[in-house]
Amino acid sequence: MDLQPIHPGIWLVPGAGGGRFPFSHSILVDSDVVCLIDAGCGLAALEQVQELATPDLILASHAHPDHISGCWMFEEVPIHAPIMSAASFGDLDALAKRFAPPHLERTFKSFIQGSMGFESCSATETFDAGSSFDLGRTRLIAIHTPGHTEDHMCFFDTATGTLMAGDMDLLSFGPWYGDRESDIGQLRDSLHSLMDLEPRLVVTSHEGIVRSSIQERFERYLEVITMRHGAISELVRHERSLAELVELSPIYGGHNHLAPALTRYWEGQMIEKHLELLVLEGRVQRTRRGYVARGAGA
Ligand SMILES: [Zn+2]
Repeated sequence: MDLQPIHPGIWLVPGAGGGRFPFSHSILVDSDVVCLIDAGCGLAALEQVQELATPDLILASHAHPDHISGCWMFEEVPIHAPIMSAASFGDLDALAKRFAPPHLERTFKSFIQGSMGFESCSATETFDAGSSFDLGRTRLIAIHTPGHTEDHMCFFDTATGTLMAGDMDLLSFGPWYGDRESDIGQLRDSLHSLMDLEPRLVVTSHEGIVRSSIQERFERYLEVITMRHGAISELVRHERSLAELVELSPIYGGHNHLAPALTRYWEGQMIEKHLELLVLEGRVQRTRRGYVARGAGA
């Protein structure tokens, strides 16, 4: 495993599969206190972390399984979870109830166990917006950034201007908001609040280290939401059901990878959130069969 230096004593732990879902990159802060941020980089990478140092604590950005799948490997290490996750954090059944519809709970559980090596774990501590973590040479502030999930937290190191942005991941795919609790408006606000910090360096869970053109990268990332909004409003110029829209796949561009049933569900959630906004904006109306743009022929 090649740790990538972020700053002296702060390392990116590259996730399996390039850090793409169902894995994510972790960050190792090897300061007076050793802190591992997220534990979804894959079990082999986590074994190598264990050989380097035993963390004094694990900080979780949010409760998505691809960020906490390997927490169980660190017995005795305190796990700090966002306070909003407390009811479901690390619990296989509770996470399935939170993140999957009833008919896909079993699929969700077998997917995260099989693909990520997920096993249940327990948070020993919780933290809230504005909590600070004094790690010695490094001090991190938790920034609540809901929208992706309700509990999503970023961490900011004010001394170096380094933002650990979690799943505000700056991938060209664009932001992900496929859970019931996800919210496009909150996500936009969260992204703007991160831009306002004017970070000098960003580390994200799936893209890794971003050292340049940071404001532009955030703007492009936000622009994907706008482009999806336009594409979905175009698709309902003809009346379409949600199931038909999911098969057209304007967000994922197909479901032939990983867990197709789950990907279809996430795509449907994301499309529906756009349609709800389009209805509120008066551009689209609901019909018995689905949705159609106002003034368009069915
Ligand atoms: Zn996530």
